[in-house]
Amino acid sequence: MPETIIIIGAGVIGLTTALHIQQYLSPTQSVLLVARDFPSDTSVNYASPWAGAHYRPVPGSSPQALREASQAHRTYEFMKRVADEPAAGIKFIQGVEHLEAPPHEYLDAQSVRNVYTHLDGFRGLSSSEVPEGVKWGVEYGTYVVNSPVYCAYMLRKFVLKGGSVKQYALANIQEAFSLAPTVNTVVNCSGLGFEDPKSFIIRGQTCLVRNPVDATITRQNEDGSWSFCIPRPLDGGTIIGGTKEPGNWDPNPSPETRERLLANAKKWFPFAPESGGEFDVIRDIVGRRPAREGGMRIEIESVSGDRKLVHAYGAGGRGFELSRGVAEDVVVLMLEAGILEDKANL
Ligand SMILES: Cc1cc2nc3c(=O)[nH]c(=O)nc-3n(C[C@H](O)[C@H](O)[C@H](O)COP(=O)(O)OP(=O)(O)OC[C@H]3O[C@@H](n4cnc5c(N)ncnc54)[C@H](O)[C@@H]3O)c2cc1C
Repeated sequence: MPETIIIIGAGVIGLTTALHIQQYLSPTQSVLLVARDFPSDTSVNYASPWAGAHYRPVPGSSPQALREASQAHRTYEFMKRVADEPAAGIKFIQGVEHLEAPPHEYLDAQSVRNVYTHLDGFRGLSSSEVPEGVKWGVEYGTYVVNSPVYCAYMLRKFVLKGGSVKQYALANIQEAFSLAPTVNTVVNCSGLGFEDPKSFIIRGQTCLVRNPVDATITRQNEDGSWSFCIPRPLDGGTIIGGTKEPGNWDPNPSPETRERLLANAKKWFPFAPESGGEFDVIRDIVGRRPAREGGMRIEIESVSGDRKLVHAYGAGGRGFELSRGVAEDVVVLMLEAGILEDKANL
C-alpha cells in the first residue's frame, strides 16, 4: 500500500534529512515536505537563510559536546563532497580563531582534541603569530556556506529526486498525519518543535556587507563577546557578526549593535585597503536560532496505533555544522524502527 512520509520543515535540518531519507525509500514510499517557510522566504522565525554560515568547532567533553562533535565531523567530510558542485554555494577556505579570554574548555587539551584535530591543516598559533591581546589562537581549513543558496540547492535536488512539497502552516503536529491518504511517519524538523518547554530562541544580529575577505576569522573579545567575518561563496558578500541573545524576541536590528559590529570588524579583520576602512552595507540581519536545553531532540516517539513521530529539532547556532550528522542519525533511527529499509538488505 502506498505510504507518504511527511517531513515538517524546509530549513537546513529538514532539507538535509529529506535528501538522505530519499536514498532509503521502498518503491511504495514517497516523501512530502511540508513547511510554512521555504528558501525564498524571509521570516525572522526561519533561521536557515540568516545563518553566516561557517563551521567553527565548539570544544567540550560533555555527552552533548561529544555527540555534536561526531555530527560535526561527519558534516565536515560531507561538505567536502558537496563543495565540488559550485551551485551548492559551499567553499573551503582558511578559518582562524583569536581568543582574548579563552573559556576553560579551550584550555583543556582533550576537549580541544575532541573537536579540532580532524580539520585539515589544523594547528595552534604561537604567541608570535597572534595579534596583541590574544591568548589562544588556531587556524585550519574549514567551509563557508551561502546559506540561502545552499537551501535552495537542496530543495531543488529533493524535488528532482521525486520529492513533493507543500507550503502550509501546521496548527499542531498531529495535523501532519492528515496531509496525505496514508501517513504513518512524521519527521519533525520544525526548528523549535511544537510546544516543547525546553525550546528557546537565541536572537542573532549580523550585518551583510559587500566588502570581500578571503578567510573566516573569529575573535573573542576580552568582555566575552564574539566578532566574526564570514565570506559567502558565489559573491554573496561577507557576514559581519554577531550577537547571541537568548530569549530576546526583538525582530528589529539595533543601529547601535550594527555600529559596534562594524567598528570591531574594522579593527580586527583584513579587509582590502581599497575599501578605505569603510563598509558597503547590503543589509542588517536579525534571525532566531532554534535552541533547546540539552541540545537537539533526536528520537522516535510512538503515537496512536502504528504512527510515529521522528523528532530532529533544536539545532541552536549549529544547524549547518551538524546537518549531515543529524540526517544520518535520523536515518539510523528510522532503519532500526523498520520505517526505512537498508538498501543493502533489499
Ligand atoms: C545570525 C545567525 C547566524 C548563524 N550562523 C551559523 C553558522 O555560522 N553556522 C551554523 O551551523 N549555524 C548558524 N546559525 C544557526 C542556523 O541558522 C540554525 O541552527 C539552523 O538554521 C536551524 O535549522 P532548522 O532547519 O532546524 O530550523 P529553521 O531553519 O528555522 O527551519 C524550520 C522549518 O520548520 C518550518 N516550520 C516551523 N513550524 C512550522 C509549522 N507550525 N508548520 C509548518 N512548518 C513549520 C519552518 O517554516 C521552516 O521551514 C546561525 C543562525 C543565525 C540566526
